[in-house]
Amino acid sequence: MNCIEVRDLVLSYGTEPVITDLSFDVENGDYICIIGENGSGKTTLVKSILGLIQPVSGSITFADKKGRKGIGYLPQQQKVQHDFPASVLEVVHSGFVNSGLFSFDFTEAKRRKAHDIMHALKIEHSICNKCFRELSGGQRQKVLLARALCATDKLLLLDEPVTGLDPVSTAEMYRIIRELNNNGMTVIMISHDLRSAVCEAKKVLHISHNGFFFGSSAEYKSSDLGRAFLEEAEK
Ligand code: ADP
Repeated sequence: MNCIEVRDLVLSYGTEPVITDLSFDVENGDYICIIGENGSGKTTLVKSILGLIQPVSGSITFADKKGRKGIGYLPQQQKVQHDFPASVLEVVHSGFVNSGLFSFDFTEAKRRKAHDIMHALKIEHSICNKCFRELSGGQRQKVLLARALCATDKLLLLDEPVTGLDPVSTAEMYRIIRELNNNGMTVIMISHDLRSAVCEAKKVLHISHNGFFFGSSAEYKSSDLGRAFLEEAEK
């Protein structure tokens, strides 16, 4: 079975549906970017994948028995996160919270896993005990990615991972995500950084009020919708 199967999904906050009849598959090892105009329903779709809102109809099925608990989630940056009064290490370790072992049984294996992830992401030892809010934007995103990686070995859901980052941090973030995907991690990423995201990802899910596109990045770039949207975004 595919990693995630979305079938005939309808999502709504009230009477008007935000997303209607959306179907697509996430295969193991995919790298999918979700794009679309503001208000088209990208965040709503992510919330439903995370189980924060229930579908009006249709289904989201996970192959892994852990289901949505096996997702490593990097949320959209918000001011309140920046002010969060926790140390870098505490933020990273909080990624284990869904495993049920965070507070009472924080094992050496988990400490080691967190350490290895931080080492792989080149999060310097010197910032481990710093307060999260003291970090630069690029450092903060790497710490939140490390947190997401503590929650998963298989599936990352990234909500605008490069928004607000400078060009150097953006390039580094894309390189890290690419390497994770090359090593087998399935990646779903919402992005407003359209051209880069479409080039980085293997597949595109474009959500719009007039329907959806789901296919390879190459197909998207040569489609009428893809060409028009990418040109509009460059203006
Ligand atoms: P995107 O992430 O693509 O910008 P959203 O998923 O945030 O779009 O929003 C899709 C639509 O749902 C918008 O019309 C938005 O106003 C509406 N919406 C988003 N969140 C809520 C909410 N909590 N309650 C009611 N409507 C919402």
